[in-house]
Amino acid sequence: TTFSDLGLSESIVRAVSEHGYTTPTPIQAQAIPAVIKGGDLLAGAQTGTGKTAGFTLPILERLLRSAPAPKNKTDRRNIRVLVLTPTRELAAQVEESVATYGKHTPLNSGVIFGGVGINPQVKLLKTGVDVLVATPGRLLDHHQQGTIDLRHIEILVLDEADRMLDMGFIHDIKKVLAILPAKRQNLLFSATFSDDIKTLADKLLNNPAMIEV
Ligand code: AMP
Repeated sequence: TTFSDLGLSESIVRAVSEHGYTTPTPIQAQAIPAVIKGGDLLAGAQTGTGKTAGFTLPILERLLRSAPAPKNKTDRRNIRVLVLTPTRELAAQVEESVATYGKHTPLNSGVIFGGVGINPQVKLLKTGVDVLVATPGRLLDHHQQGTIDLRHIEILVLDEADRMLDMGFIHDIKKVLAILPAKRQNLLFSATFSDDIKTLADKLLNNPAMIEV
């Protein structure tokens, strides 16, 4: 199988190949077509399996296909994808992947997390990004102060959901879910499946495709 066989457009495949990937990993081979189809996804995957490209690539593909995409990466746009991660480090890493794989597309991305000044983030959110990667606490800070518009979210990703619960983010996650548009695609990635994760998955996902690697 190649990345093109999985349904990815030329501009995305070219970025992936320039990045040095030749063959999809098992999670990518399963997740990419499932996410492009548009349904919800429950994925059991550890770090190191290629899970990040497993969701970022098909998300970019969906945005490309359905985009009234601005022509230029710096044009104003609405946030269409929200990726929540447990830590700043992971948030930064995921956003870098989106930027790398989307480099030949007009799509753009940004990242917001706590522990740093809020003003540059306010500026970023004013122009808007197609894909926003965020840690839950700082996302809610922006919501509370009215500096983020989450009304156009089409896809939500919870990355490393088990770590988010371990770090006590369940209340923040529930608050975020209550803010988002009801009609959206939901992807949940977790390395482990405790009862708490299963409860969250039940609440979040509609008839999800399930993959485990
Ligand atoms: P992740 O599980 O998303 O943290 O990715 C683990 C590592 O695998 C990262 O360093 C990626 O750059 C690398 N990687 C992801 N997909 C592929 C692929 N298809 N071929 C080679 N390396 C990959």
